[in-house]
Amino acid sequence: MEATHHPHVVVVPYPSQGHINPLLQFAKRLASKGVKATFATTRYTVKSVHAANIAVEPISDGFDDGGFAQAQKEDVYIKGFRENGSRTLSQIISKYQNSGSPITCVVYDSFLPWALDVARQHGIYGASFFTNSVAVCAIFCHIHHGSLALPVKQEDVPLQLPGLPALNSPDMPSFIKAPESYPAYLAMKMSQYSNLEKADWIFNNSFEELEGEAAKSVSELWPAKLIGPMVPSAYLDGRIEGDGGYGASLWKPLSEHCIRWLKMKPQKSVVYISFGSMVSLSAKQMEEIAWALKGGDFNFLWVVRESERSKFPDSFMDSTAGKGLVVSWCNQLEMLAHPSIGCFVTHCGWNSTLEGLSLGVPMVGMPQWSDQMPDAKFIEDIWRVGVRAKENEFGIVRREELLFCLKQVMEGERSREIRRNAGLWKEMARAAVGEKGSSDKSINEFVKHLMDAKGREGTWNDRFLREG
Ligand code: UDP
Repeated sequence: MEATHHPHVVVVPYPSQGHINPLLQFAKRLASKGVKATFATTRYTVKSVHAANIAVEPISDGFDDGGFAQAQKEDVYIKGFRENGSRTLSQIISKYQNSGSPITCVVYDSFLPWALDVARQHGIYGASFFTNSVAVCAIFCHIHHGSLALPVKQEDVPLQLPGLPALNSPDMPSFIKAPESYPAYLAMKMSQYSNLEKADWIFNNSFEELEGEAAKSVSELWPAKLIGPMVPSAYLDGRIEGDGGYGASLWKPLSEHCIRWLKMKPQKSVVYISFGSMVSLSAKQMEEIAWALKGGDFNFLWVVRESERSKFPDSFMDSTAGKGLVVSWCNQLEMLAHPSIGCFVTHCGWNSTLEGLSLGVPMVGMPQWSDQMPDAKFIEDIWRVGVRAKENEFGIVRREELLFCLKQVMEGERSREIRRNAGLWKEMARAAVGEKGSSDKSINEFVKHLMDAKGREGTWNDRFLREG
């Protein structure tokens, strides 16, 4: 009967690329430490996930044929996911109940607090996984607990929160600067904290050396364990055999073509530009980037998703032939790890930020919305691994500004300092997930708890009854 009590975790992501990646990586990390891990993602995304040692199960968001695009509206999608996700996640837990390997813990994306209710209904552990930086989570935590009111008043800027640097208006998450701009997303951000006091663990994709101070400042309200960076092992500690990529791609990556092209370019000569999976730039902003790249002396590899392609200036590619390559999607980590890449122009999504840090690639931040602004602030001023391109009064980064930033990062005195820092952070990221590193220890504690709980199943129910 031993096998009956072996820990089995079901990991549930919000189904976008920037959420699937770190949660799947966590599932793989747990599996490498002897925990059985099942990844439960939406029917629409389930076919995009292929990871060794991880079972994959479909759940429903109510939009099985097209996911978010089918729902079209954020609030409709979030509601559909809550209702259908709760039901289908519960079915999966029931399905394994009488197998040799019942599910003992739900590790859920913090965007899906209903998953904790499902865990509770089944009397099993629930662990919330936050995919933003600690700093950003701390800001929203303060809002939840009433120590920061929205909208932030003019006289309270710069915003001073314990453990965080002073945040000026351009450094604040867009949702708190303009709470009315995306009400459904803001509501989802706030919902992360709605039942958190009932969670057995809180995890965050960051690491002690990077954001330990910020985490400490809010630990009474948000006692998160830092377990990141959740980047495939081959790029960090190398301890998970065959873990050379996330194992999930919602678009077809054109990586081979990119690598062939990169091979012909000198070391550190190429600027890699990507705005992640969700950002949609204005045509004007695309044009400014295009002309900066055309005017600069650098080679460039630019990811422009198919849906953005129509904004691309005509004849741009013909006029930059030889020094530029534009692709619709690629394996970003493979590009960042390539010796020809000298700089990463990024929207500062948290995964991209962690990937740039973990691979020691200097960055130029061009944040667009949500949590990207504070991430850019940390990149430039706190970790000093890049610069932030400044927007003009219309919110556009002009070509001259981008070129100026590229030069700062690619050549000259500041570039040397940035490269030095980037190299140091790369080492620290590796150490954190390596044997006995700060994140490794936190993950081991969690695994040990799950393993030791095998003879004490009853206590989960006790706890459940106690908490109602
Ligand atoms: N990514 C990728 N190929 C690309 C662009 C992005 O594989 O061409 C990956 C990237 O490595 C990262 C994720 O997509 O893990 C994007 O997450 P992030 O948090 O940076 O931004 P989001 O897409 O959520 O805005």
